[in-house]
Amino acid sequence: MTPEAADKLAAFFATFADGAKALLLLDYDGTLAPFRVDRFTARPWAGVREQLGGIQRQGRTRMVVVTGRPAKEIAPMLALDTPLEVWGLHGAERLYPDGRRELEQAPDATQEKLDALRQHLKRDSLGGLFEDKANGVVMHWRGRSPRAAKLIEQRTRALFEPLAQMEGLALLEFESGLELRVGRNKGGAAKALLAEMDTASPAAYLGDDLTDEMAFEAMKGRGLSVLMRRQPRETAADIWLRPPTELNGFLEQWVEAGSRE
Ligand SMILES: [Mg+2]
Repeated sequence: MTPEAADKLAAFFATFADGAKALLLLDYDGTLAPFRVDRFTARPWAGVREQLGGIQRQGRTRMVVVTGRPAKEIAPMLALDTPLEVWGLHGAERLYPDGRRELEQAPDATQEKLDALRQHLKRDSLGGLFEDKANGVVMHWRGRSPRAAKLIEQRTRALFEPLAQMEGLALLEFESGLELRVGRNKGGAAKALLAEMDTASPAAYLGDDLTDEMAFEAMKGRGLSVLMRRQPRETAADIWLRPPTELNGFLEQWVEAGSRE
């Protein structure tokens, strides 16, 4: 960690002093857990689950996972004693701790086109890994050779880009994949969550992917944004931390700041 990053962290945690409620927004894959080609085996890094449990027990932080996955996948992966709120599908879906669920919908004409593409990709996944989502379709090429990845990307763009022009549909680029989708992105999710908090409450967002950049932008002037990633990259985030050591360090500081009166 650079001295500059350490200063920014210290300044951020100093804002906990007045006992206000805090907001902690967390991406899951790549941020709390290492990537796995089979995403159902992506467990949090050692120590993370315990730290998150500690933050929950303090009862001072509203903690929300904001993920590209369907929201219901997160609770079994995190295995916390108390369920937490999850915004799934990059923010298009909201799953409350009590089980209530909201999902953004597309206009009928758009939905029909999307369904046709879905059927097409089920028959032919273009050499990639097709993921069928409630609000869209995703093509992954993580783990493929550079040459194969390029070919899958070209085929995917040829199918997705014309449809992205339709009302209610948008492309979402992420590392090693492309999504065609309906609804809020992570920036919209972060904004909506911030709007539900007191303006003086400490707030932070931790993420690793290109899709998290929109949330980093949304945090500007309102909270701390952290690029949590092994390698640095051009980013809108305030600081860059490396998981798992610096992630655990951050969460530990959060627990410590939250225990102050
Ligand atoms: Mg991620």
